[in-house]
Amino acid sequence: MIVVMEPSATREQIQHVAERARAMGLAPHLIQGTERTVVACIGDERFKAPEQLAVAPAVEKVLPILVPYKIASRETRPDPTVVPLGRGSLGATAVGLIAGPCAVEDRAMLLETAEAIREAGAVALRGGAFKPRTAPYAFQGLGEEALEYLAEAREATGLAVVTEVMAPAQVPRVARFADVLQIGTRNMQNFMLLAAAGESGRPVLLKRGMSATLEEFLLAAEYVLASGNKQVVLCERGIRTFERATRATFPAAAVPALKTMTHLPVIADPSHATGRADLVEPVSRAAVAAGADGLLVEVHPDPERALVDGAQSITPEALGRLVASCRKIAEAVGRTL
Ligand code: PEP
Ligand code: MN
Repeated sequence: MIVVMEPSATREQIQHVAERARAMGLAPHLIQGTERTVVACIGDERFKAPEQLAVAPAVEKVLPILVPYKIASRETRPDPTVVPLGRGSLGATAVGLIAGPCAVEDRAMLLETAEAIREAGAVALRGGAFKPRTAPYAFQGLGEEALEYLAEAREATGLAVVTEVMAPAQVPRVARFADVLQIGTRNMQNFMLLAAAGESGRPVLLKRGMSATLEEFLLAAEYVLASGNKQVVLCERGIRTFERATRATFPAAAVPALKTMTHLPVIADPSHATGRADLVEPVSRAAVAAGADGLLVEVHPDPERALVDGAQSITPEALGRLVASCRKIAEAVGRTL
């Protein structure tokens, strides 16, 4: 990191900063300009506390050189990470489709939906067993019963199973049934959950916090990676803005921006980003055009009767049309779907 001293800094104050840097395990190099001195501190600052230098007398500012997420960064690993998923993967040339109902409502609807999304070309079935609902009185999911239906649907279709985990204590139970653990937007900074999911050894699908910056998003992913689990998929699901016409705002630029910052696969969730079934297909096209490695789409055989997120759920037929139109976009950007 670079420590910029105030123009009025005395020799003693500069020496003090150099000594403090040395005590922190960094190698200080003084660069004397005509106006001021800067102290370049060599060493991996990510494992230090730069604020300790920032509060030293006569320090104007401290400029980090390295991004604070290490394992997630492109610098650490220039090649893309590919996460295998059922009969496909995320992060390779093919755009992977993950689809399914917001919540598993019953056995028949899940099996019917699984069959339909497999036919549409999905590689994974996603359905909530434990739902993070804003209101405590809303349908909370079927819990363990839903996990059993998901496992049965995997047997029947060969699709991988993605489902959400909400608490560290649930991780072993959910990891027994699921191929991929989803961590939702409301839990993106639940650091104990991130670590527990990481330790499960299952790939983790991490959704962006609705008010999180991309740097915070990557630092959350870093918690999973730092636990020794290298299989993390990032999901842009829309952020909170002043706009009310859509449930969230889909920041298409986040997809290519993340890809410059990290080697991890980046997928998009047009369903939660828009909250509107009529916008799911066009926003999916935008995501694929922007370079998304996959799509996570909510599909319900009868959206009108969905217990959760019916307004943004599309029918299996609409999913077929979505795939056909996104396939053309994928080809235009050198991908397949
Ligand atoms: C979901 O995927 O159904 C969900 C609750 O998503 P999010 O965490 O993005 O709101
Ligand atoms: Mn949902």
